[in-house]
Amino acid sequence: MPLSNSGNPSFKRQKGPDFLVTKDPIYLDNQATTPLAPEVFDTMVPWLRDNFGNPHSAHRLGRKAAAAVEVAREQVAGLLPKGGELIFTGTATEAINLGFGAVHAAQTTGRNKIIVLDSEHAAVRDTALSYAKRGFEVELHPLGSDGIVSLEELSAAIDDKTAIVAAMLVNNEIGVIQPVQAIAELAHRSGALMLCDVVQGYGRVAIPDNIDMAAISAHKIYGPKGIGALWVRDGIILPPLIHGGGQERGIRSGTLSPALCAGFGQAAALCQDKWDSDAAHIQILADKARDCFGDWIINGSTSQRYAGNLNIRKEGVDVARLMSDVRGVAFSAGSACASGSGRPSHVLASLGLRPAQIKSSIRLGFGRYNDVKDIEMAAKYINEAVEAQLV
Ligand code: PLP
Repeated sequence: MPLSNSGNPSFKRQKGPDFLVTKDPIYLDNQATTPLAPEVFDTMVPWLRDNFGNPHSAHRLGRKAAAAVEVAREQVAGLLPKGGELIFTGTATEAINLGFGAVHAAQTTGRNKIIVLDSEHAAVRDTALSYAKRGFEVELHPLGSDGIVSLEELSAAIDDKTAIVAAMLVNNEIGVIQPVQAIAELAHRSGALMLCDVVQGYGRVAIPDNIDMAAISAHKIYGPKGIGALWVRDGIILPPLIHGGGQERGIRSGTLSPALCAGFGQAAALCQDKWDSDAAHIQILADKARDCFGDWIINGSTSQRYAGNLNIRKEGVDVARLMSDVRGVAFSAGSACASGSGRPSHVLASLGLRPAQIKSSIRLGFGRYNDVKDIEMAAKYINEAVEAQLV
């Protein structure tokens, strides 16, 4: 899916090898964010342009907006377990911060231990670590060299002091899928809660129904940026992070955006409708990519993974240079967050990779709007640039 950059003065055709072409880059960074689905855009427009009512107002305009929010809530919840409620937030990061608040109730019963996998996104990892300053013991639980947690080792770590175990469904950097259902069973056996960051799996990978909380984000499923949600099982007590007018059942105050909610709902409904066709399409792209990058090594498990994420390395490649050379492809070195912060990838490090191996790794993310030609062209550009580096 080439992006249209007409009018953007920074995208100009240059003389030189093909991989230096900067016009219309091919977007292969679908873990960082996804393009807005056209159907989502169309759904949002009337709520931005015409229906401006505050969904918390009692009059007709307000009630109309509130009804749209509730339709969206149902659509988003349709891909989540039953027996809980959905709280809209600004981002998944906010949802995760909100969910960790459950540890306060657990602390009153003597539980002061938090366990999170070492490969969690910073939204989970750094939130958990912030509790170390508030009297909690925080364990960053190690993983195997395939990026998957050992259930035996995790079982030994969870005890009757554990308040919460957090594990992600699909890893944002390497795409591996954790055995979340079994992890939730282990947590429950010791009376702990299980918080799952399902951001990279929601709408694409089945979510086990025994988790207690799930954080999601619209912009990873072809929805708008600026809205996420926390799904919470009934009966879990969460203190509000944001105080104010008491919206979202008093847990998350602030006026909701009907446009963002409606866009999120439509994006979720599309994922549900297109579940099989999206999965088949992504698998075709993944198979093509594995062919095109056959002499690269896959980071993390080759079998327990989401097909839309390919994190690969090649000895001797300088990825910083590769990314500045290959201007015709939008891809990532490590996670978008780690790249943005300049921090080395803790996920690749948790696999036991050496710094040189981490620096020679790239992440390619395929989505609904890519086609096989995108993969072929991207592979041509990347492999040609690598060859030029390694001569
Ligand atoms: N968790 C995972 C696995 C992610 O990939 C991301 C986004 O990169 C987040 C959490 C944070 O999501 P948001 O951008 O909605 O805060």
